[in-house]
Amino acid sequence: MAVNTLPMIELGAPALGDIEKQALIAVIDDQWLTMGERVRGFERAFADLHRVDDAVAVSSATAALHLILAAFGIGEGDEVLVPSMSFVATAAVVVQTGATPVFVEIEAADRPHMSLDEARRHVTTRTRAVVVMHYGGFAVDLPAWRRFADEHGLFLFEDAAHVAGLTGATAIGSDAAAFSFFTNKNMTTAEGGMVVVADEARRERVRLLRSHAMTTSTLDRDRGRAVGYDVVACGFNFRMDELRGALGLVQIERLPGWNQTRVELMASYRARLAEQVPEVVVPFDAHHPTSGHIMPVVLPPGCDRAALMAAMRAAGIQTSVHYPAIHQFTYYQDQYGGITLPHTEDFSLRELTLPLHPALDSADIDRVTDTLAASLGSVAGQK
Ligand SMILES: *Cc1c(COP(=O)(O)O)cnc(C)c1O
Repeated sequence: MAVNTLPMIELGAPALGDIEKQALIAVIDDQWLTMGERVRGFERAFADLHRVDDAVAVSSATAALHLILAAFGIGEGDEVLVPSMSFVATAAVVVQTGATPVFVEIEAADRPHMSLDEARRHVTTRTRAVVVMHYGGFAVDLPAWRRFADEHGLFLFEDAAHVAGLTGATAIGSDAAAFSFFTNKNMTTAEGGMVVVADEARRERVRLLRSHAMTTSTLDRDRGRAVGYDVVACGFNFRMDELRGALGLVQIERLPGWNQTRVELMASYRARLAEQVPEVVVPFDAHHPTSGHIMPVVLPPGCDRAALMAAMRAAGIQTSVHYPAIHQFTYYQDQYGGITLPHTEDFSLRELTLPLHPALDSADIDRVTDTLAASLGSVAGQK
């Protein structure tokens, strides 16, 4: 193989620069390190961008999901419908509350959202909630899920880890949504998450449980606004610190522009892939509302994906898989064995995620699709 001298095209890359450095330095200079005015400011900015009343900043999206389930009283004896085609956290938080995750099939290989018809088949007298996930940034049909939830008396929660900034298509019509600011998401605070809750009383419950269900904060006590505290429930430490709040405040300003760039890059991908490798399927249609979180494609049946990924890596292109199906992991097989979800399993075997982040340009997209076409040819030739 020819020696590759081109730079590696990374799957994703956080956009971090001088603005972030200055924001972090300012926190150090101010000497107030957690749950202060920056975290509160970030919550307000996030709520405003998503046109919701308020938001609660937390340490991760996993913590956000856990808090939502706790605040809505989900626990032992309850069943929660979840997609198996998601990151493991979507199911793990259900297990952590003592409830049972019920894995639901996707619609089809080119529509890897949880299927509403399949979800309906799994509703029992124990079902309390459904957690939808906006796969890859593509918005699920929230109004349809709302009707379904209302029909069966369920709470509707969103794993919104992929859709920060997708205003109007997320955190609208659900009971609560959990966003992620992990390093590979559309905006980052390194680790971090946000909870949006429609009902104010439930939202305040989330806020309370975030910090041990203590009735006053350290900041309130420091500023003399409160003396002492009571503990009114068994809570968690899922707080966000000021360093992350500072990163969030500057990143959220640029999020809409980044998402726009991602969506434009996806359009280039769709055009190039249709020309060069029509046998590769791009999920959803070109007009589906999306945050452009990742660029998933579905390889032809029987394609040796591991060999393809190795060939692309050798040519300087990073790829990944979103996701191994949750119900097929050892732990979930041991606990909830005997589940088969043919479409999910097929998608999980054939999905390939191509590089997508705002620092890429159309020349990078060309290089990725050229490499994919050549690697597909060479992998097929080896058979
Ligand atoms: C990243 C991710 C999470 C977890 O987010 P953290 O902030 O890392 O806890 C949950 N669900 C999905 C679909 C994700 O992609």
